[in-house]
Amino acid sequence: MARHRRVKIVATLGPASSTPEVIRRLFEAGADVFRLNFSHGRREDHKATHAIIRALEAESRRGISILTDMQGPKLRIGTFSNSGVELVPGQRFGLDLSDTPGDGTRAPLPHPEIFAALTAGTDILLDDGRIRLKVESVAADRAATTVVVGGRLTNRKGVNVPGVVLPISSLTDKDRNDLDYALALGVDWVGLSFVQRAEDIDEARALIGTRAGIVAKIEKPAAVDRLRDIVERADGVMVARGDLGVEMPLEEVPGLQKRIIRSARAAGKPVIVATQMLESMVRSPVPTRAEISDVATAVYDGADAVMLSAESATGQFPVEAVATMDRIAQQVERDPLYESLLHAGGTNPEATAADAITAAARQVAETLNAAAVVTFTTSGSTALRAARERPGVPYIIGLTPKRETARRLALVWGVHSVETEDAHNFADMVRRACDVAKTEGIAKDGDRLVITAGVPFGTPGMTNVLRVAWVGEDVLPA
Ligand code: PEP
Repeated sequence: MARHRRVKIVATLGPASSTPEVIRRLFEAGADVFRLNFSHGRREDHKATHAIIRALEAESRRGISILTDMQGPKLRIGTFSNSGVELVPGQRFGLDLSDTPGDGTRAPLPHPEIFAALTAGTDILLDDGRIRLKVESVAADRAATTVVVGGRLTNRKGVNVPGVVLPISSLTDKDRNDLDYALALGVDWVGLSFVQRAEDIDEARALIGTRAGIVAKIEKPAAVDRLRDIVERADGVMVARGDLGVEMPLEEVPGLQKRIIRSARAAGKPVIVATQMLESMVRSPVPTRAEISDVATAVYDGADAVMLSAESATGQFPVEAVATMDRIAQQVERDPLYESLLHAGGTNPEATAADAITAAARQVAETLNAAAVVTFTTSGSTALRAARERPGVPYIIGLTPKRETARRLALVWGVHSVETEDAHNFADMVRRACDVAKTEGIAKDGDRLVITAGVPFGTPGMTNVLRVAWVGEDVLPA
């Protein structure tokens, strides 16, 4: 089953979408990637969900990507003796390392690393940014603050310290255990939360190796400041607008989204736009006009994927939410303005044979109105470079002998990945490309394909050949 759009859909799974029936319906409605969020749910539940997805994959004979999202160092205050307090602007409020439950004057903050990084004047945000404190003075085990924006503060609410690079890893002990667990299950992408610097990616890479791709979630100002380095070292990025909108002024998020998309596209790495895309569909079968426009904007900007969180994980209309994204994406991609907006940023090929061939493939495919660009790819990198070109054809077919590659590419713009043996010779390359394109319903006799491959065949990283093929009519060498 080939999709009729090039942008991909990521659906987060949760209590509303944990049964084989619902997961199948989400897939049929258009979900290409399923996200398992380790911030919620039990490990055994994620294991069961993973098995359901793999069974669906075997049945549909189509690579499905699984993205596991690590909780990361989500900072929280401790508890209160009365479960909460009312904070009033101008009042003094203390934070400290004591185990004693909080009251109207102070609250426990069990994170010594925060006190080490705070200075007078730093803003501390509580409860998704609803409450704001300003640090007046700080010691190793406590900070005195003034309430700037008040409100009711209750047990274990989240803490954000936007202006400070905290001396903490983006992987906690829980994350390391979850990561082992997820990698043993066999997941395709790992989402790293609260990345602050490129070294966070290196640390994760040392644990993950090549077993999964790393998606750096951009949700901290520190990560925005180091965007280039982070994009360079990660395998993909997520515009994690939930926490990004807490850590940065909300009105800056749309511009940052465009910057992050552009940066990832220039590097040829997949980029996901996440959070509250169709938020009202948690409770309503119909989204708002503004939400439709939000999804459409991400598609016009050339994001690889748009993501559903609560809409598909806990909402009342998970399947409708996926179907809505699918319809919006198809409509945008049909818009005559789409191609020019998609290429507004301009992405030039790098000075490599692979990029030169890939850029030429795009041009030839567009000139000939080809049904697809076909890439033979082992690690997936040729297909990623082809996607980087955002060619104006309905599909990039990624033919790969590696199941893991086929799965991972399900996240990538335009790529319809198919697991198949590597081509043995030129005739085999053309025959295989034409056969797959026909079987997958992508091309019919008389259509043209533009094929890129590496000769000698089976040598990874060798893209050096471009061939135009006529489906059903090609004259193949003996
Ligand atoms: C986000 O903050 O936007 C995000 C995707 O992360 P999480 O859902 O883990 O909060």
